[in-house]
Amino acid sequence: MRTILAALLLVLVSPDVYRSFAAAQQPGASWSADIAEIRRAANLIPGAKPVRINFVKFAASLRTKNFSVQGAPTIPSVQARTAFQVMYPDSYVMVDAGMDQTVHDFFGRGTKEPYDAAAAAEVAKAVAGARMILVTHEHGDHVAGVIRGPQAAQLAPKTILTRAMVDILTTKPQMPEIQLTAEQARRFIVVDYEKYLPVAPGIVLIKSAGHTPGSQMVFVALASGREYLLIGDATWHMDGVREVKGKAAPWVTEDVNAVLDQLRWLNQLSKTDANLVIVASHDEEQHADLVQKMLLTNRFELR
Ligand SMILES: [Zn+2]
Repeated sequence: MRTILAALLLVLVSPDVYRSFAAAQQPGASWSADIAEIRRAANLIPGAKPVRINFVKFAASLRTKNFSVQGAPTIPSVQARTAFQVMYPDSYVMVDAGMDQTVHDFFGRGTKEPYDAAAAAEVAKAVAGARMILVTHEHGDHVAGVIRGPQAAQLAPKTILTRAMVDILTTKPQMPEIQLTAEQARRFIVVDYEKYLPVAPGIVLIKSAGHTPGSQMVFVALASGREYLLIGDATWHMDGVREVKGKAAPWVTEDVNAVLDQLRWLNQLSKTDANLVIVASHDEEQHADLVQKMLLTNRFELR
């Protein structure tokens, strides 16, 4: 106790000490997470756990692998644009919300990239029928579906955004089309949390600023015991996790050190936790592999 008081006194009397203490808590300090704590958090909310995860690919970017993984060869590597559906016995939760063609065209930068209007309509339908909507981060290909379009006002009250996401979306969104007004922002459920936030039986948000300030991973524990980590864009290709290598895309501005910390953590988990399936939003090769292994289903169940 005396030590704590002494430390407190030191902090109070010495602005320099206070500043350096505060600096150590800032983003840029090393990122880490504890899978045991995450599992505990996944058990906090009572109720039946989810039973499976579905996804739909609604668009793609035709890039080469060297952009996704530092040092990778310049070979074609399709970036699938996807949304995920976490199925419960009686309802479902969406992770990411798709995007309309206008936002899609922004990503193509003038080139025509594949956009599957029928699949995008499926995503819009799934989002409309969801009990709750979560997003991995505030980029257009993940969040536009709850910001734009005729159903946006109905979707916002069942969509959880973080304070960091809303700050970016209102002040410096990835593209003008997804900018939120203060009035629109108020319609969402906006949360702030330190490290982990349980939001439904078996589902925990993991704060992972890095790719963007509002990035988070979504941990899902199924009733079967199988576990998933939907890592959003921490990497675009799972080789980023396998080799602990970040992106090399000149148009991406991210906290490289935080992303590398996350890749290191994921790499470690991939070696120690065989029951945990790490899923990157955009890795088409991985998605195909997981579908084949029956660890993901590539169609939505709409009710
Ligand atoms: Zn993305």
